[in-house]
This record gives sequence, C-alpha cells and structure tokens, in this order.
Amino acid sequence: TKQTNPNPHRTTSHFRWVHCVRMEPATATVLSPNTRRRHRKIVVIMGPTGAGKSRLSIDLATRFFKNSEIINSDKMQVYRRLDITTNKITKQEQHGVRHHLLGAFDPTQSVVNPHDFRKIASDAISDIISRRGLPLIVGGSNSFIYSLVTKRFDPKSDVFNGPNPDPVSSELRYKCCFIWVDVCLPVLNQYLCKRVDEMLDSGMLEELSEFFSSGEHLKVRRSGLGQAIGVPELEAYFRTGNGTESDAVYSEGVRRIKDNTCQLAKRQVGKILRLKDGGWDLKRIDATEAFMAVLTADSGGGRVAEIWEKQVVETSVKIVKQFLEE
Ligand code: ATP
Repeated sequence: TKQTNPNPHRTTSHFRWVHCVRMEPATATVLSPNTRRRHRKIVVIMGPTGAGKSRLSIDLATRFFKNSEIINSDKMQVYRRLDITTNKITKQEQHGVRHHLLGAFDPTQSVVNPHDFRKIASDAISDIISRRGLPLIVGGSNSFIYSLVTKRFDPKSDVFNGPNPDPVSSELRYKCCFIWVDVCLPVLNQYLCKRVDEMLDSGMLEELSEFFSSGEHLKVRRSGLGQAIGVPELEAYFRTGNGTESDAVYSEGVRRIKDNTCQLAKRQVGKILRLKDGGWDLKRIDATEAFMAVLTADSGGGRVAEIWEKQVVETSVKIVKQFLEE
C-alpha cells in the first residue's frame, strides 16, 4: 500500500487556506437602512471545482457580511463521509460561520436530487432570513443552484445535458446576486492536479481505504456518494491489494482522478456559460492571477493573499454591497 502522511487537520497547501494569509479583520460593512429590506435576497457563489468558492464565502462571512450563513450546493458534499475525497470545508476552516446541508444526509439511505435540494435549501433560506441573516449559497453543482432559484422547477426537465437541453428559465424566485469565481482552465487544471496529490497525501487514501475495507462502498447509493471522484477510480486498486501490479493500478487510478476532476471543472464552466447565455446576471470574477501566484514555486503566501484580496475579495464585496443596497 502507498505510504501516506495522514493529517487530521489537513494542513495541505490548498489554495483556499494555506496560501492566503488572513488579512487584518476589516470593519463590518455599515449598510444603509435600505439593506434591512432583504426579503428573499440571496448571494450565490458559483464556479468550477477548486476555484476558491469556499475561501471567498468565509472571507465575506467573517469580515464583511457578518450575518451570513452558508448553504452548501455541492451535490457530493451534502452527504456524510468521504470529507477529504469530496473536499469538504473543515470545521476549523469554517471559522465559526454556520453551514447548512454540509454532510447532512446519510449516503446509505438517500440520494439527494435537484428536486429534494430545492425543498430543503429553500427551507434553510427561509430559516436564515427569518433570523435576519444573509444566505450565501456556495457550491459547484449548477443543477442544484438552478433547481433552487428558478420560479418554476420541473424535475423532468434538463437544461444542461443531452442533444436538446431544455431552455434556461430566467424567472427566479429570489433576488439573486450571482458571483462566478472563475480561473482560466489551463491554470485551474494545473492547480487541480496538484490538489489531487495533496489530498491523497493528507488522508484521502486512508479515507478511501477504510471506506472500501469496511464494505461501505457497497452500502452507499451508487448514484449518490458512490459517484464521488476517487471512489470508482481507485476501486480496482483497493480490490487488487498489495500485488505486484498494484503500483501501476494506483498510478492509473490517480491519473483518472486528475483527469475526471479537470473534466468536471470544464463541464461546470460550460453549465455556468449556459446560464449566462440564458439571461442570468452572473458577475464573473477572475481569480486566475492569484492561482498563477500559487503555482509559482517561489511565491510566498503573502503575495497570493494580496492578489486574492484585491482582485477577488474587494470586487465581490463591492458587488454584494451594491446588491444589498438596491
Ligand atoms: P450538476 O451537473 O448537478 O450541476 P456537477 O457539475 O457538480 O453537478 P457532475 O457533472 O454531475 O457534477 O459530476 C461529474 C462527476 O463529478 C460525478 O461523478 C460527480 O459525482 C463528481 N463530483 C461532483 N462534485 C464532486 C465532489 N465535491 N467531490 C467528488 N466528486 C464530485
């Protein structure tokens, strides 16, 4: 078996946490009386896997919009288990910000589909608004976001897939501020491959090993958590055990994880563009430069943090402030 270096705190060099030195806490935004009329206003942070959505949501919630609560909209992270494999934000990284629908469902009992998500996430939104909070919807699953915010949602329709996808509806049931965190794909792909290696080193392999050896992979719903990237790709490796061919099987599994993660990011951007073309007012924020700094071996965390702050956080804060004051 591979030698790994499991670390309960997952102190990897993931972009979102290590390369970003926390900036001095800013004073919370003072909002005009208008902002109190926040009825049905939500902020949606979307973007491909790895682009820094979680990091941005914590920056916004801890420093600028302190009444925020986060609703996870990643379809794998709604399940309990495989926290490293599905790249869930840890308790420590949450910095005390309340999270909803993160690891909330038993993967052996349920498959959460977009229709279910519409119901449970809208209940969470109502709950947050009733406490005068600001809901931040954060996650890469566009089918979940679409089902949640459209005025009418038909579970049988599919606006993203197939030769003739259904038209995108731009009639929404919330006032939405859509922030699309984007990173140009060649740069993101390079980062994602590095992230996979770091995830494997920081405990993903042990997590999956336990998952397979306990027979849990047989209990989870194939159409749910059983599809998380890492599970199908490393199944053969865990089946073959320590045989002589195991190194090759492992390398092939890792290669497929990297490939599938990059494919996922590409597909997610395609879905976002489809929503934009369908009339959704998405504010694109380009985080490429910050990611390029992460990938440059000699760049210190301070420089990354500075670029991230200037180009991603400040721009997002302006957009959200304006939205709340409208
Ligand atoms: P949607 O199409 O519902 O918007 P999506 O774009 O997040 O969702 P898909 O294209 O359906 O994802 O998924 C592609 C593959 O990536 C699937 O096998 C899916 O289970 C997997 N996947 C998606 N999110 C994660 C994640 N957080 N961790 C691991 N695998 C994931």
